[in-house]
Amino acid sequence: MKIIETHSPEETYRLGRTLGQEARPGQIFALDGDLGCGKTVFTQGFAAGLGITEPVTSPTFTILQSYHEGRLPLHHFDVYRIVDEDEMDEIGYEDCFYGDGVSLVEWAVQIEDLLPPETLHIRIQKDTEKGFDYRLITISKGEEDEPDRT
Ligand code: ADP
Ligand code: MG
Repeated sequence: MKIIETHSPEETYRLGRTLGQEARPGQIFALDGDLGCGKTVFTQGFAAGLGITEPVTSPTFTILQSYHEGRLPLHHFDVYRIVDEDEMDEIGYEDCFYGDGVSLVEWAVQIEDLLPPETLHIRIQKDTEKGFDYRLITISKGEEDEPDRT
């Protein structure tokens, strides 16, 4: 598990950009954290790291937005509104998760059962005592070494 602290949106963006530069085909990133914690900011950096120049926003209403102009295809999910797995089947998530692109899933906790074991979990947490722009970001693989949620 890796723990990173950021103190501005730019810093979170740069972390995403670095991971985007290093991304490999087939990777899946599960992003979790409260509304406004920075999941989309991270994704915007990640997209930039892949060489995507189009604007990236949360696909809250469409659930999935794919970008094909970068080094690898990027499949950006926002599954906040997902209520059952059939909806994921309908949008063809399997072609994204098990294809040659990279998938980033905002609110991944909603579709936990669909995530393969090699999924990289990125959890972003605020800590108001440490300031408005402070974020604690943990990166871990699989469930067993996830931080304690209590
Ligand atoms: P989410 O997608 O998780 O709902 P967004 O990425 O859309 O959240 O929004 C995050 C908001 O928090 C932005 O307005 C951003 O400017 C702000 N922010 C402040 N500090 C940080 C930080 N350290 N990292 C990321 N975003 C931050
Ligand atoms: Mg978002």
